[in-house]
Amino acid sequence: MNAMHTSIHHSAVFDHPEMDGHENIVFAQDHQTGLKAIIAVHDTTLGPALGGCRVWPYDSPYDALNDALRLSRGMTYKNSLAGLPLGGGKAVIIADPRKDKSVDLMEAFGRHVDRLSGTYITAEDVGVSPDDMEAVARFTDHVRGTKATGLGDPSPYTALGVFEGIKASVAHVFGSADLTGRTISVQGLGHVGYDVARQLHEAGAKLIVSDIHAPAVLKAIEAFGATAVDPAEAHMIEADVFTPCALGAGLNSRTIPHIQAKIVAGAANNQLQTPADGIALKKRGILYAPDYAINAGGVISITQVEPGGNDTVVCEKTIAIGKTLSQIFVRAERENSTPEQIADKMAEERLAAARKA
Ligand code: NAD
Repeated sequence: MNAMHTSIHHSAVFDHPEMDGHENIVFAQDHQTGLKAIIAVHDTTLGPALGGCRVWPYDSPYDALNDALRLSRGMTYKNSLAGLPLGGGKAVIIADPRKDKSVDLMEAFGRHVDRLSGTYITAEDVGVSPDDMEAVARFTDHVRGTKATGLGDPSPYTALGVFEGIKASVAHVFGSADLTGRTISVQGLGHVGYDVARQLHEAGAKLIVSDIHAPAVLKAIEAFGATAVDPAEAHMIEADVFTPCALGAGLNSRTIPHIQAKIVAGAANNQLQTPADGIALKKRGILYAPDYAINAGGVISITQVEPGGNDTVVCEKTIAIGKTLSQIFVRAERENSTPEQIADKMAEERLAAARKA
């Protein structure tokens, strides 16, 4: 092969913009079921790479690869910051979850996961149901969040971590973690958002709620005496805290100028549309609890492998999210940085220390 060929191939593969030192990337196919999957193992310094499996009808294999690389790197950071003995990985299956998914397809995926000998551990993500994971588990032990492992639904733990994170944020901004009389706008009342709202209500907060699904809103009005607003206006409301628990990318150049709250702290993944949006929040004097730090309760809970899990250990670790956030906020101020930049730094520091040890 001549030099030109070498450089073209090099830039197309190992110099991929999202490559970032990934340890192992597997393109998995199964001709009988039509499975096409990519399993990305980003980093196993801290332990086996844990990250969910996403089933999504990507427009092209390149989009799927991008997503797998980006998400697996994100899991390295999330698991590191949460203090877990786990590295980061992620799998994507290129398929429409409504049309193409089958038991056979998920079993074929399970066989591929098993070939990685435990360097990658899979779990549920977008487009994957508990039943799908049971199919995967028939062919590999390297799976979490099944009936045989752990504590079941991770949402209550995610909600607990978010509640603790809100208290830490309120303490940082207002000098006390007491939520009595604080106004909090919770956007999205699904598995996590509703349970966050319940805990906030029990702690004495005044709730403003929104969801595109009307029955969830009615339930919260009745149970918590909440006030309802249009979901599109949840961020504009006069409140102490804005708590996004719906979809990602809600913090962007259109919404940030209208945020009234002093704090944004919620469960949604990938809340900042771009890194510049984190800087824009800081400029407006709004404290942002980095999403992957505050919503780690779920991943903490799925690390449990024993049937029934250990609720006490998981709760302790999840409650510690509040402490981690307090450290992040203090350091961000000291280093004139944003909380999400400090979260990344802290995750990287733990990795660097483990690499040296
Ligand atoms: P869910 O699907 O149960 O709930 C999402 C809710 O948001 C639904 O009630 C939906 O009607 C509502 N919604 C959708 N679009 C909306 C909009 N534009 N405005 C207002 N409401 C809207 O999901 P979930 O499990 O509660 O997760 C919520 C968020 O937290 C997601 O971003 C998820 O990625 C993230 N997260 C969840 C977990 C977990 O353990 N479930 C862990 C980490 C992160």
